[in-house]
Amino acid sequence: MSEPNAPGPRSPDSVDPDSGPPQPATPESSRSAESDEARSEARAASLTRRQLLTGAGAGAAAFFLDRSGLRAAVPTESIQARPGPGRPQQAGAVVFTHTTVVDPDDVRDDVALAVSDGRIAAIGPTDDVLRRFPAAERYDGRGKALLPGLINCHAHMAAVIARGFNEDFGFPNTADLPVSPGSLLSPEENVLMVQVAALEAIKTGTTTIVQNTGGIQAHASALADSGLRCVFAESVRDTENVPGPVTPHALNRTEPIRFSPKLRQEGMQRIHDLFEAWHGKRNGRIQVFPAAALTETSSPELLQAVRAFAEENDVGYTIHLNQSRAEFQFMQMYHGMRPTAYLDRHDFLGPRLFAAHARYVDDGEIHLLGRSRTIISHQAAMAGNRGVAPPIPALRAAGARIALGTDNNTNDLFEVMRIALIMERIRRNRDGDEIPGLQPQPEDMLADAVQGGAHAIHQETELGALEEGKKADLLVVDTRRATLLPRGRFLSALVHCGHPDAIESNMVDGRFLMRDREVLSMDEEQILGDAERVGRRVWNRVLEEGTVKVPRLARPS
Ligand SMILES: [Zn+2]
Repeated sequence: MSEPNAPGPRSPDSVDPDSGPPQPATPESSRSAESDEARSEARAASLTRRQLLTGAGAGAAAFFLDRSGLRAAVPTESIQARPGPGRPQQAGAVVFTHTTVVDPDDVRDDVALAVSDGRIAAIGPTDDVLRRFPAAERYDGRGKALLPGLINCHAHMAAVIARGFNEDFGFPNTADLPVSPGSLLSPEENVLMVQVAALEAIKTGTTTIVQNTGGIQAHASALADSGLRCVFAESVRDTENVPGPVTPHALNRTEPIRFSPKLRQEGMQRIHDLFEAWHGKRNGRIQVFPAAALTETSSPELLQAVRAFAEENDVGYTIHLNQSRAEFQFMQMYHGMRPTAYLDRHDFLGPRLFAAHARYVDDGEIHLLGRSRTIISHQAAMAGNRGVAPPIPALRAAGARIALGTDNNTNDLFEVMRIALIMERIRRNRDGDEIPGLQPQPEDMLADAVQGGAHAIHQETELGALEEGKKADLLVVDTRRATLLPRGRFLSALVHCGHPDAIESNMVDGRFLMRDREVLSMDEEQILGDAERVGRRVWNRVLEEGTVKVPRLARPS
């Protein structure tokens, strides 16, 4: 009988998100967030290389690249009072003039949107808004559309190392590599992978990302420095002899699951420590949530501890749920019930929970998820790679809210919107829709990506819409593109025919992370150069051990 997940090659996808103990703290990662910010502030004050003003909230809100060019330092962001009616606006405000403001339920043409102190301060006729903000910087919005920033609710950012491989061999990955690419990364290279993922996210329209893994402290500073709004979902397991997602062959095991109070305690301590160091930092841009890694690696006590931590600290929590056949078979075999029933039995479901995947949930599980108002993070692109169209229509009908995520390899949520739309239409046809191709609509996909995402991370009062008072997390889309002209409905054209290349600027918390396609918060050239070098070394090393057998289709002779 084989051990569950016996030692051997595992791809990042099959690696437990809580992949063992956190990496050893580097001097960088062992600093407290406060001292890190203080150091950044001091460094920023003395920099000479170049200073990049990033839009609203200038001064304390500017980004600087340090001399090495490797990392961006973000000075401490002070919370400033919003200007009251009739008072002059703060310096650094931006007004997007004569533009189109797009929300899932509303498209407003030829209006202006003002950003001040990190928030949307006004939307209205351009002349009126400019009168209120006469000193604001003007961003010519003609031919442009503003959209709420996309919220990626489920990412394993360092897994970009397995791009161009991990998409093609099922789940858990069945291409038996002699060595896992992720295992060949040094701690510094692991941080670099997270930076590559953040760069991709910024360029493809994400403004908030949920990084779900164990040992986030090691890259927390680098990720926060990207300027993205982040949820650090620190992931924990407490099984001694089930290290990660179960494989089909692991179902042959004979020994009972052993839960470890020590692993549980260490994991909850990691969550506690990360929360103390980072929650609410960077003007509230960083949040820390607890995560139980997987249903098959969670004891009832761990589920209860994760939920209790979330409730005590008024945050959300997450878990991978029903992502493979092996998972639900394993849960039936060792707990006598389906994964969702196990979570229900131990009081884990509820509106604070956003569960990732729900690929194989049956009718009973769908009922439990809907009844409990659990939110589902739907990783449509990765589900599609695995050949699965999750029962999203039934989950919606049951009352579950849907949010979107990328999972491994890619961090492009723009592309996920299109795949999620197509996948759900195919699923609805299969489920018996009278008129195939009618639902969902592109507006529904944007709603999932922004409103669903904002609910999932429990920031729906602050994010997910372009409304006065909401935080200024937004995208500027160039609508005069070959992919977008001519067109009927803008959102339809954008989701079906658009490409993230049309995103020219990305603003988070009132600051441009990218402007006119230049990423301001990270050194793109340096990061990509390093990533290319590291990726080549890692894959050369993997392929030294043997070629990968690709199961091609037979071709007609
Ligand atoms: Zn995942």
